[in-house]
Order: sequence, then structure tokens, then C-alpha cells
Amino acid sequence: MGLAENIEFVYKNIRQAARRANRNEADIQLVAVTKQVSIETAQQAVKLGLKNFGENKAQELLKKRQAIPGVQWHFIGRIQTNKIKYIVPNSEIIHSVWRIKELVEIDKRACNLKKIQQVLIEVNVSGEDTKAGIRPEDLKSFLKEAGRFKNVKLIGFMTMAPFVEDPESIRWVFRKLRELRDEYQGNYPNLVHLSMGMSNDYEIAVEEGATILRIGTAIFKGGS
Ligand SMILES: *Cc1c(COP(=O)(O)O)cnc(C)c1O
Repeated sequence: MGLAENIEFVYKNIRQAARRANRNEADIQLVAVTKQVSIETAQQAVKLGLKNFGENKAQELLKKRQAIPGVQWHFIGRIQTNKIKYIVPNSEIIHSVWRIKELVEIDKRACNLKKIQQVLIEVNVSGEDTKAGIRPEDLKSFLKEAGRFKNVKLIGFMTMAPFVEDPESIRWVFRKLRELRDEYQGNYPNLVHLSMGMSNDYEIAVEEGATILRIGTAIFKGGS
């Protein structure tokens, strides 16, 4: 099915993009997005050495994480508040938080588990109406308000770029997210991560400073 070749190809591209940007490859984490694939296929990816996996549905996260322990699971999808009770116990990082009411519930669940939940704030950099995420101009007040949650650790920003034929045309989205991170890092030193870059655009995301890539299709294509 070519899973090993796909993974090797993706890593090679990451390495080359990192080199172009004078970055250390070790600073870039690959999250394999398994939303389209079976537990068996995800297990093969574990055997091939992948350590971080992402799901965008709470139910699927729960199922796969129970079937595949010993690796780190990431929640990357739209958050429904009533599903947070399943997301918190099963996520190393929640990538897609952008409402205070979500943080209220995450904090409560994390507190019950005596866990510090790592969270990324989803930012709608491109400004598309259909996209989730907080607007850049609202970040400042959001961060101020978010400081009160004792069991939440905000570790950076996440964004989804628009899907385009030529990813060069959305380079500015990734650059903007990095600039926002740099801007707020002074007051919030824990904001280090940039979760950006998918199958179509990860090389450009690496060049612009991504520390976490969320890649599905490029890894699992041609498989089951
Ligand atoms: C599906 C998904 C990805 C991976 O997309 P690919 O194009 O398959 O690499 C990344 N991030 C999120 C939030 C997703 O839902």
C-alpha cells in the first residue's frame, strides 16, 4: 500500500523545507491524521515509527486511542461542548479551541482528572466566513480572559489555510500566524507552537515556522 514510502516521502520533504528555512528538523512534529483510515492502518503507521496521531471526531478519537495506546493523540476537529468530556481524557493536545465556554468545560474536566490540558488556540487568519477560529483582532482579550483557567496550558496557535491549487498563494496565512505568535510570546511565553500545514501545503508551513504538521492524505493515500 506504500505507507512506508509515503511516510518516508513526507519526512524527506519536511527535512528539505526545514533546510531551506535554516530550521532544525527536530523542532517539527508530525501528527498523522487518521480520520479517513481504519484502526489497522493506524497501527501499521505506529509500527513504522509514527508517534503522534490526530482525529477530528470525539467518538473516533476515543475508539482509536483505546485500540492504540502508547502513542500521543491530538484532537484537531470542531469542538462540541458536550463532547469535551470525551476529548480531555484522550488528548495530549487539543488544537481547535477558540471560545471561552470551551475553555470553561476543558478546565473543569481537566481539573477532575488532575491533568493540565495542553491547548492550541485556533485562529481564523484567512478570514473566511466558513472557517472556525478566533479573529486575530480578538486574540488579545481572549488571552487575557484565558489566563484564569488553572488546568489549561495554552501552548500556541493553530490555523487552517484555505484549500487552493497553488499553496504559494496562502503562504501569507502561515506567516501571519507566526507573526501573531511572535507578537504575543513576550507576554505569554508558553505560546511556542504553530500547528499549521496539511497535505497540500506542509512544506510552505515548515518554511514559515510550523512546529506541528497535521497530515492525513499524503501519509495514507493509496491505502485502506
Ligand atoms: C483532515 C484534517 C487534516 C489533514 O488533512 P490532509 O489534507 O488529509 O492532510 C488536518 N487538519 C485538520 C483540522 C483536518 O480536519
